[in-house]
Amino acid sequence: MQINELPDYLANKIAAGEVVERPASVVKELVENSVDAKSTSIKIDIQEAGLQEIKITDDGIGIPHDQCKKAFLRHATSKIQSENDLFHVRTLGFRGEALASIAAVSRLELKTSTGEEAGTKMSIEGGHIKEEARSDARKGTEITVQDIFFNTPARLKYMKTVHTELGHITDIINRMAFSHPEIRFELTHNEKRIFQTTGKGDLRQIASSVYGMSVAKQMIPVQTRTLDYEINGFIVKPEVNRSSRNYITTIVNGRFIRSIGLAKAITNGFHTFLPIGRQPIVVLNISMDPYLIDVNVHPTKLEVRFSKEKELFQAVEQMVKDALHQQTLIPSGPKTSIKKEKSDQPQFEFDQPTPTTKHFAKQKTEMEQKLEDSAFIRETEPVGTSISRETSDKEQTESTEESVPFQSETTAVEEDRVPKMYPIGQHHGTYILAQNDLGLYIIDQHAAQERIKYEFFRDKIGEVESHIQDLLVPLTFEFTQQEALLIEQYLDEFKKVGLFLEAFGQNAYIVRSHPYWFPRGEETEIVRDMVDQLIHDKQVNIHKLREEAAILMSCKRSIKANHYLNIDDMQQLLDDLRQCQEPFTCPHGRPIIIQFTKYEMEKMFKRVM
Ligand code: ADP
Ligand code: MG
Repeated sequence: MQINELPDYLANKIAAGEVVERPASVVKELVENSVDAKSTSIKIDIQEAGLQEIKITDDGIGIPHDQCKKAFLRHATSKIQSENDLFHVRTLGFRGEALASIAAVSRLELKTSTGEEAGTKMSIEGGHIKEEARSDARKGTEITVQDIFFNTPARLKYMKTVHTELGHITDIINRMAFSHPEIRFELTHNEKRIFQTTGKGDLRQIASSVYGMSVAKQMIPVQTRTLDYEINGFIVKPEVNRSSRNYITTIVNGRFIRSIGLAKAITNGFHTFLPIGRQPIVVLNISMDPYLIDVNVHPTKLEVRFSKEKELFQAVEQMVKDALHQQTLIPSGPKTSIKKEKSDQPQFEFDQPTPTTKHFAKQKTEMEQKLEDSAFIRETEPVGTSISRETSDKEQTESTEESVPFQSETTAVEEDRVPKMYPIGQHHGTYILAQNDLGLYIIDQHAAQERIKYEFFRDKIGEVESHIQDLLVPLTFEFTQQEALLIEQYLDEFKKVGLFLEAFGQNAYIVRSHPYWFPRGEETEIVRDMVDQLIHDKQVNIHKLREEAAILMSCKRSIKANHYLNIDDMQQLLDDLRQCQEPFTCPHGRPIIIQFTKYEMEKMFKRVM
């Protein structure tokens, strides 16, 4: 056996695997270098999603002629000098690995000048320097990377489609733009300009380029500071929301990072303003002394460690809350959570949900009107037992298992699902009190109606397969570059489920017709959900969508709390509830019925021991 020290080019090639995962990582590293070089304008030109060519041109400080070779050595950096520097990194890079790694797996050309002397031209192939010469003295650096992974075919094979790779690239540039509003960015793909910012520091303008005008219009600027942190950015009004957390952008000292803690602080701030399961669109820039943050946790530096993170998270949560309350978008519901009591009263052994504020929004008359308008009401085919129904039933049972409110009484109630209940009256216009021989019942009327409507819509939605509904006024949608690329790729998938998206200018689409099952008035939400689902799951799951549509419909069209019902209305509601397959929980999993058995009542009043 013989142990050999690997030659540099081979060591670099191996190390490249860590830094250079795909074309987007090359773009990220090179643009970060341009930012670190104090550029005011950075141009990114891509051919074939970067698989063919990536060219980054900046107007930064440039690399002096005698330093150029060193820049390509592994662990060679101008950004830190000593161990001490590592604890207050002010630049995006500091590991000195990127150029060496990129050069090891591509054909790279460098043209750079400090603007004070003739510049340098270098070409490197698979880590070997091929050519070196002097060039003109234009201040700044231009790096061209061609044929990435030409000498690591396994990695090349792993690359996804052009659309996917380009999507990653635009994502990186979008984040960079948010992180550095003071820098002008321009991104072209196959000579076509696909993204641009002005570099004038205007976050709204950047948001508009990234997310479209409609989102930018709903932005609320936010700002706060603590002893150690300065935070600013924007949140988008909660009525514009998404199903994934990818739209929460957090930037720390000009570096895009991912932090579960920060994301959580943000969503906590949105608490009750957002529908269950939805995520906000937010961009936060956080500045702090670099001593308070450890960026050297992860090779791609995506994750960081904060000292005093509690202080930071609290400030963020409070800032979001304050901004939302100042807007008084919707009245916020009272906190009603009852502590779990480990006592002999099992009927309280679950948390009362905090009412989401939208429960108070509309009145029954409007709901009835909407229901009558609804396309579904005209559908009179019998309830089918389609696959979608079976799937959703399964999902429903699974998702609600843990929150079924009955514990000690489950068996008694389940024999008859829900026994006939007779209304006594209404409490606070919200709860129906009812009774029968078995005991006393408290029913959340809104939750009950949600359940009834949900099952109604779910069954209706499950029936129609391929009907298409034409729209009088076509709907327009704006997407991010990355979303648009994905949509482009999955147009056929959408067609299969009856949704025809037509390109309409940059990153925008129009829809002239849609599947028949789309709930009327909710078309925009459903299309948005379809795209979100696509981004998340890389497929369109029609059953899941229909399930979501049914929940949306049932929630929007249910009678709200604070609505007075007469005894007949109550009886009708209770009877309808009994017919439900899952009468115990609303579609969101909250309890509908609380029961006090006769025995429990007697026990509470100490009539029995
Ligand atoms: P790091 O960014 O971690 O220092 P890199 O391998 O990315 O390591 O870059 C090595 C060095 O090359 C940098 O420290 C910097 O001095 C120089 N450099 C790279 N890109 C540029 C650029 N666009 N403008 C000026 N200097 C650059
Ligand atoms: Mg770097």
